[in-house]
Amino acid sequence: MDLSILVIQGDGIGTEIIPQAQQVLRVVGRRFGHTFSFEEYEAGGAALDHTGAALPEETLAACLTAHTVLFGPVGGPKWDPLPPTERPEQALLTLRGKMDLYADLRPIRMFPQLSHASPLLPQFAAGGIDLVLVRELTGGIYYGSHDIRLHNGQSVASDIMSYTERQVERVARTAFEMARKRRGKVVSVDKSDVLSCSRLWKNVVCRVAQEYPSVQLNHMLADSIAMQLMRNPWQFDVVLTENMLGDVLSGEAAMLTGSIGMIPFASLGNSTEGIFGPIHGTAPDIAGQNIANPLAAILSAAMLLRHSFGLQEEADAVEKAVNRVLDDGYRTVDILSAGCVPVSCSKMGELVAGAVLSPQIYRKIARGLPAPATASGKGRSTQRTGRGRRQKEKEE
Ligand code: NAD
Repeated sequence: MDLSILVIQGDGIGTEIIPQAQQVLRVVGRRFGHTFSFEEYEAGGAALDHTGAALPEETLAACLTAHTVLFGPVGGPKWDPLPPTERPEQALLTLRGKMDLYADLRPIRMFPQLSHASPLLPQFAAGGIDLVLVRELTGGIYYGSHDIRLHNGQSVASDIMSYTERQVERVARTAFEMARKRRGKVVSVDKSDVLSCSRLWKNVVCRVAQEYPSVQLNHMLADSIAMQLMRNPWQFDVVLTENMLGDVLSGEAAMLTGSIGMIPFASLGNSTEGIFGPIHGTAPDIAGQNIANPLAAILSAAMLLRHSFGLQEEADAVEKAVNRVLDDGYRTVDILSAGCVPVSCSKMGELVAGAVLSPQIYRKIARGLPAPATASGKGRSTQRTGRGRRQKEKEE
C-alpha cells in the first residue's frame, strides 16, 4: 500500500520524538511492503515565528485534504505571553475543530515493565492500569469566548463553557462503542453538582446508554474520579469526559502509569481520518538534549496504523517491539530504574525500529549498548545465552 501521512513535528521535544515515530513507520513499510510518504508542514510556535500564524493557511488546507496527521506537541515559554487565541496551542484546537474530530482516545495503560516508575504504592501499582479515556474535543470552555476586561477599576476575566446535545451524543456513542469491545463499563465524568453543561451532559449520556444495554454506565463527579484514579485505578474501563476535565484527568492518569512520555492520543471523528500524537507537551525543561521519551509518539504511530489505515498486524508489530525493548531493560531517563540501561531519545527510536524489522538487526543495534543488570524490574538478566537468544527469536 502507498500510505501518505501529514507530519507536524511541533516545538521543543516534538522535533526529537516525532522523527523516531517516522523512523518506526518507515521500517513497518519495509517489513510489510508498504510505502510511507511524509509531507511535512509547520504549526505551533515554529509556524508563528516564520509566518505569524500558529496554523498557517497552507498547513490548514493540507490537513483538511490529508487523511492522517501525525502531530508533535506545540508551544513553549517563548510564546506564553501571547493571548490564548494567538498561542501555538491554538493550532491543535483549531485543527481538531476544522477536521470535525470530536473524540480523543487516550489509552492509559501501565506497561508491567514500568510499574516501578508509577508513583502509586507497589500494592496499588501491581493491580495494573488499563483504561481508555474518551475526551470530547470540540466543545466546552476551550471553544467558548475568552475575555479579560476592566470593570469598576479592576480586571475581570471570563471564559464561556457551552455544549450542545449533539456534541455530547456523538462522543458518548464513541465511548459506548469502545466499551462494548472492551470490558463493557463506562464511567461518565461531570460536575453536575455545579454546572448546567454537566447536567445536560449527564442527561444525554443516560439517553445514549439506553442504546447499549450490555454496557454498564456509572457517573462520577470530577473531584471524585480524581481521587478514585489514585485509590483504585483498575476499576476503570472507559472514562468519558468533556473537554477540559479530560485534559486534566488524562495528565493525572498518565502519570500513574509511570511517565506522561508513554501515552498517545488519537483524535477521531466519523471516518478513519484522524490526528495522532503524544499527549505530553513540548517539555521545554529537557528540549534539545536528546533525552525525551519517544515511546508515546511511537505508540501514536501504532494507533494511526490501526485506526486510519486498518493495519492491525502492523500496529501490533510496533507495540510488540516497544514491549521487547522495555523487556530488555532499555529506558529513557524518565522511566529509568536500577539495573536498566539509559538510552537517548534517538537510540530508543532506533531500538524500536530495529525490533520491528528483525531480531538480527535489533541485536546489532543493542550490541553497542551496555547489558542491563536486570530487565523489566523483574530481576531477569537480559544477557541471554546463545540458547536463550535462539528461543526468543523463535517466539518472534
Ligand atoms: P509537558 O508535558 O511538556 O511537560 C511536563 C513534564 O513532563 C516535564 O517535566 C517534562 O520534561 C516531562 N515530559 C513530557 N514529555 C516527556 C517525554 N516525552 N519524555 C520525558 N519527559 C517528558 O507539559 P508543560 O511543561 O506543562 O508544557 C510545556 C508546553 O507544552 C506548554 O507550552 C504547553 O502549553 C504545551 N503543551 C502542548 C501540548 C500539545 O501540543 N499537544 C500538550 C500539552 C502541553
